Amino acid sequence: MNDHRTEPAAPDEPPCAHGSDHGPARGAGSPAPGGTDEPGEVRRFRERLGLPGLIDVHTHFMPERVLHKVWNYFDSNGPLIGDLEWPITYRREEAERTAVLREFCVRAFTAMLYPHKPGMATWLNDWAVGFARRTPDCLHTATLFPEPGVEAYVGAAVEAGARVFKAHVQVGAYDPADELLDQAWGLLAEAGIPVVIHCGSGPVPGKHAGPGPTARVLARHPRLRLIIAHMGMPEYEEFLDLAERYEEVRLDTTMAFTDFTERFMPFPARALPRIAALGDRVLLGSDFPNIPYPYVHQLHALERLDLGEEWLRAVCHDNAARLFHL
Ligand SMILES: [Zn+2]
Repeated sequence: MNDHRTEPAAPDEPPCAHGSDHGPARGAGSPAPGGTDEPGEVRRFRERLGLPGLIDVHTHFMPERVLHKVWNYFDSNGPLIGDLEWPITYRREEAERTAVLREFCVRAFTAMLYPHKPGMATWLNDWAVGFARRTPDCLHTATLFPEPGVEAYVGAAVEAGARVFKAHVQVGAYDPADELLDQAWGLLAEAGIPVVIHCGSGPVPGKHAGPGPTARVLARHPRLRLIIAHMGMPEYEEFLDLAERYEEVRLDTTMAFTDFTERFMPFPARALPRIAALGDRVLLGSDFPNIPYPYVHQLHALERLDLGEEWLRAVCHDNAARLFHL
């Protein structure tokens, strides 16, 4: 698994290539939700670390009407949100949202999309092919659901160039260890394609959420490159156990350590040395655009953990650059 670790991140990468390629973000010129100069704040964060850009493994892009349904769900406090107040900070059209990420010098990001019922994944995967084609800085993303034929469409997505998958155990309300998924997991493990999996019991518990079902998947597929979304919140320590046991398991930072999350699912301070030690397997994730605070707050939340610049550089860029050969 260490085969790619020695490769340095592209040394001659121009700083913030997206900014120079695309010019000022069109449509992002309205006052930034994060304050008057959020792009400047993100730039100063990068400059403190000497990073050419950021890589964000957990951003949501999906067909507009699906995304609008997701936003309505947050607005109306659907059951997975509970009574949390969750205003969507970046409620904009698709082109404006990609422009915002480029303005933040996010040099690669994902299109986390996921079905909530059978028969929906192939349609989402077809959309994702088009999105990846028109969005070269997006890592081509695909998804899956436990249903007959899943291994065939997962194989087809891999053939079509998918570089990362998303599995949402909570929204899909399925057991990731369901036998129907077994071949698909095997195929993804074999291909070394990472799968961002929302499997923790946050924001609210779900029937198949929690470390147990994910542990069963890994027991059968120990080389599967699972990226545990949200650091596994709120079962942070149980998911750290899995990451320590399986060397291909990684964690994304999505919403973890922020003021918002610390209020109701605080990360245990005693576990900080463990994420410091796993510094080569923690990846920046944000949940953009569906976040109830400015993007830069996620970066500052990581910075204030005080785990050192080397750790931050690895998390915000280098680990993902190595994983995705960027
Ligand atoms: Zn998400």
